[in-house]
Amino acid sequence: MLVGSYGLSQIDVDDIAKFQGQEGATVASTLGHELSEQQEKQLGKLGNDNAGYTKAHAVGTATENAIIGATRVDGPPTFKTDFLNRVNGSQNTNYNYPNGKNVTVTVNVVKNNITSVSSKVQNPSPVKKKP
Ligand SMILES: [Zn+2]
Repeated sequence: MLVGSYGLSQIDVDDIAKFQGQEGATVASTLGHELSEQQEKQLGKLGNDNAGYTKAHAVGTATENAIIGATRVDGPPTFKTDFLNRVNGSQNTNYNYPNGKNVTVTVNVVKNNITSVSSKVQNPSPVKKKP
């Protein structure tokens, strides 16, 4: 399971802890996303299928955006699945802030577990000069 599993209704707290100290995706925003997604699934009585996941994931993403004050834009899927159906590789997710700041978060995964997370900040908000 990677971060959270819609199908199993579970959250991997070890994976979420890897977001500690990052910009863009944080422990709070990742946890908020997964909790909100599960709430939508369970209270909305959504099916354990792609349609249910797509709807619940959109609600999770909206919660995540509200927590960090940015808009999440998923990069192209680059994870690979091995013969045991485990996720491996790295994937980028972008976060666009209203002030023009962009953060790219890279998640590295080995056998369904996050091994490291890094974030790269572009266009940081300029320091205001005194007149
Ligand atoms: Zn999701």
